[in-house]
Amino acid sequence: MRVRFAPSPSGHLHVGNARTALFNWLAARGTGGTLILRIEDTDVQRSTRESEAAIVRDLRWLGLDWDEGPDVGGSRGPYRQSERLHLYESYATELLSAGHAYRCFCSSAQLDADRQAALAEGRDARYPGTCRRLSIEQAAGRIAAGERPATRFRVPEHRDVVFEDVVRGAVRFQTDAIGDPVIVRADGHPAYNFAVVVDDALMEVTHVVRGEDHISNTPRQILLYEALGFTPPAFAHLALVLGPDHSPLSKRHGATSVAEFRSKGYLPEALVNYLALIGWSPGGPGGNEELLPIDELARRFSLDRVGLSAGVFDEEKLAWVNRHYLKMADPHRIAELSVPYFKEAGVELSPDARGVEFLASAMAMAISSVDRLDQVPARLALLFEYSPEATLGDAQVREEMRAEAARAVVRALAEELARAPRLDRERFRAAADAVRARTGHKGKALFHPIRVALTGRREGPELDLAIPAVDLGAELPRDAGVPPILGCRERAAAFVRALDQSG
Ligand code: GLU
Repeated sequence: MRVRFAPSPSGHLHVGNARTALFNWLAARGTGGTLILRIEDTDVQRSTRESEAAIVRDLRWLGLDWDEGPDVGGSRGPYRQSERLHLYESYATELLSAGHAYRCFCSSAQLDADRQAALAEGRDARYPGTCRRLSIEQAAGRIAAGERPATRFRVPEHRDVVFEDVVRGAVRFQTDAIGDPVIVRADGHPAYNFAVVVDDALMEVTHVVRGEDHISNTPRQILLYEALGFTPPAFAHLALVLGPDHSPLSKRHGATSVAEFRSKGYLPEALVNYLALIGWSPGGPGGNEELLPIDELARRFSLDRVGLSAGVFDEEKLAWVNRHYLKMADPHRIAELSVPYFKEAGVELSPDARGVEFLASAMAMAISSVDRLDQVPARLALLFEYSPEATLGDAQVREEMRAEAARAVVRALAEELARAPRLDRERFRAAADAVRARTGHKGKALFHPIRVALTGRREGPELDLAIPAVDLGAELPRDAGVPPILGCRERAAAFVRALDQSG
């Protein structure tokens, strides 16, 4: 099996196209086939190298790779259409001399006028065939006189084009409904329908797996295969990914590009796993296994089990998948990936190995309760932001903490911690036990004031996780690239002072 992903480098990688790339990858990797990356950059107005680089970066970020492509080479290259113009030219010449194509001198103004007239009369707006009947001599004369024609493919009349789509079954088109398509524009650049056929044929693509927005192009392409004497590949048209209103997922639904989902804090393995589940199911023993690594997805994948409808892009489900992968991931990796989000939240981090080690250990209190990386800084904010004055600035907290029982707990805590070494989980439990013994308060009456005094917050991660993290952070050398963290002993003392000053 030889498949290809053929993006046009005129923007970001849309998640729908990423899914097409993924399905090609799964098909190739699951069968020991070959995946080709081909850059379809013949639209010179819209194509940029920046976009190509961004698409390649996003594909690689997703964990996809390819066997042939502009950046990895291969024996059927070049893999950028802009470097294959000579090939299109030679096949266009072949079609012209066989009478399968003809020169078209219609100006765009003329074509517009024809289209308007057709629409006004309720006719089909396809090309009316104005230049179809020009003789080769007439065309040559006009070219000699300086006109620059486009080249059009002569679509055979009164025929059915039928193909067996791997996903959709038999698909039938009548050629009389198809206007003669331009295959080479007047500026010498090939049109998509032509370049794609020449490339898929020369690159020996066996299966064209692409979005169903291309399905109406397929009969034109099949006719071009025939005219060029090539055997058409198998086609698999994937239903488009939809937004919540069931129209194709687009900007007005929110994030659409892989880059946006990356910056929102989704992990690549989560996005890949989720995209694979849109319109396909990996099956498995219970029939509904969903959370599987990409290699296992590839092992189970088969194009003929891809569903007819793709369904709605469901960000809540993506978040669910992401939570799974966040929990599975190495916390050191999560720590490093979180750094930009801390910066966005105003916490300047450039941790060295010790800083990363610390953040990784602190991740335990974040990972179980976040959907995305961008939510990590808020869960760890108690490390870097601590101000008893600010905490007691809240009337409700002030009232709670000035109650006699709470004051007693906080005072006893400060005294215990003044003598205690830095707290790990056991020492924290021992300190809490000592405070309980001294004050007689337990349960919420014990732990709520402790939480407020040591974290500055009424709610947050488990104290068993938060307290050791605070004291581990307090021990970090200043040059570890992590902002200073006030330890529990200092927090408790400061809290008592602030409480006393609050009246
Ligand atoms: N360049 C086309 C696109 O991005 C590729 C279509 C195809 O796979 O044939 O939509």
